[in-house]
Amino acid sequence: MNAQPKTVKHPCFDKSSEGVCGRVHLPVAPQCNIKCGYCDRRHDCVNESRPGVSTAVLTPAQAGIYLSGILAKEPRISVVGIAGPGDPLANPEETFGTLREAKKLNPNIIGCLSTNGLMLPKYAGEIAESGVTHVTVTVNAVDPEIGAKIYAWVRDGKVIRRGREAAEYLLERQLEGIRAVKEKGLKVKVNMILIPGVNDHHVEAVAEKMASLGVDVLNVMPMAPVAGTPFENVLEPTPEMMEAARAKAEKFLPQMRHCRRCRADAAGLLGEDRSREFGPYLKECAEIIPIDLRNRPNVAVATREGLLINQHLGEADSFQIWSKAPEGFKLVETRKAPPSGGNVERWKELASILSDCRAVLVSGFGKVPEAVLEAEGLTLLEMSGFIDMGLSAVYEGKGLGALKKRSASGCRKSSGCGGDGGGCG
Ligand code: SF4
Ligand code: SF4
Repeated sequence: MNAQPKTVKHPCFDKSSEGVCGRVHLPVAPQCNIKCGYCDRRHDCVNESRPGVSTAVLTPAQAGIYLSGILAKEPRISVVGIAGPGDPLANPEETFGTLREAKKLNPNIIGCLSTNGLMLPKYAGEIAESGVTHVTVTVNAVDPEIGAKIYAWVRDGKVIRRGREAAEYLLERQLEGIRAVKEKGLKVKVNMILIPGVNDHHVEAVAEKMASLGVDVLNVMPMAPVAGTPFENVLEPTPEMMEAARAKAEKFLPQMRHCRRCRADAAGLLGEDRSREFGPYLKECAEIIPIDLRNRPNVAVATREGLLINQHLGEADSFQIWSKAPEGFKLVETRKAPPSGGNVERWKELASILSDCRAVLVSGFGKVPEAVLEAEGLTLLEMSGFIDMGLSAVYEGKGLGALKKRSASGCRKSSGCGGDGGGCG
């Protein structure tokens, strides 16, 4: 059985902990605000291990559920990082929302994020306040002439810059942002992607500049050529080229030599990545329907005998109302449903009867009730099986495969429902 590491360390910043402390990347940041010549985030191949790639993208609430499952499966994880698949600071709500979820789950977990640095000056304060202690910034050039060959464009708000102007703008923000997070006492690693023929002669200049800003460690990474990108035909640097580059940079800064070029959904120890194994669970979590938790402590269930979820929404003449109790789940009461017929008005009345419920568990439903109830903040979930299973899925995110995120057009009721609400009526 996996053991919780005694001392919580960041395995990328501290090589001595790489065999005992792991990391999980939560893929919650799909947007990016710059365009690097080596990046294409469209591919997802489980055999492909590189930044920018993820099996799914999660919302902060889904990420919280995913993280709690991952920590149970792999307690050696000591770092929760946000590393894409775009740029975390181009998705600030998702990034900070997720970091808050992570800290709620485990206040001792190390918070980490990787960014291109464009928005670092703006968010340095919020990063520190959110409990992040380790930041990685990718700096590929400290000369805008070289930067202009790497970045196609840089977007800040509605303004898009290109060419040298873009590279200059990005570099200014990277330098200002690194200074700002160092002033806040954070550990900073700089990643430099080595692109033969473009910035391979520039490693010492980057290392020297980063050292002057107080950066803690430099990670010179080989560029992985990706088909369809401007650098698709550039040959990947050889191990000898990488070692020569690191040796030059080492005159200025400690070097990271154990980087694994992780995916945006990496999970596990650096040398024992389990993202392939956790991929199906990640996809399951990405399917969880966002449920309105505000003032909605209960769950409504359509059941014939009180054991199974086995009634279609339109058939149920009453709903059991369940809530979460310290010892499990508690049946609060049974509420009568409005009489059949009445179409939209019937579902509005049901929404009002179930206004304290976060979800309604049923064996099927039609399009009209789905639209009406969801507009009123109720989530309809189709499932079959024991009521307890459904409640565990809604309240605890357990056994999520039992719940189906399904559009009402896929309703399986056999008799006479055209999805227009009439068949449910
Ligand atoms: Fe891709 Fe990252 Fe560059 Fe954005 S910053 S273009 S996600 S490599
Ligand atoms: Fe650590 Fe490198 Fe993986 Fe980032 S890509 S988490 S630095 S091993």
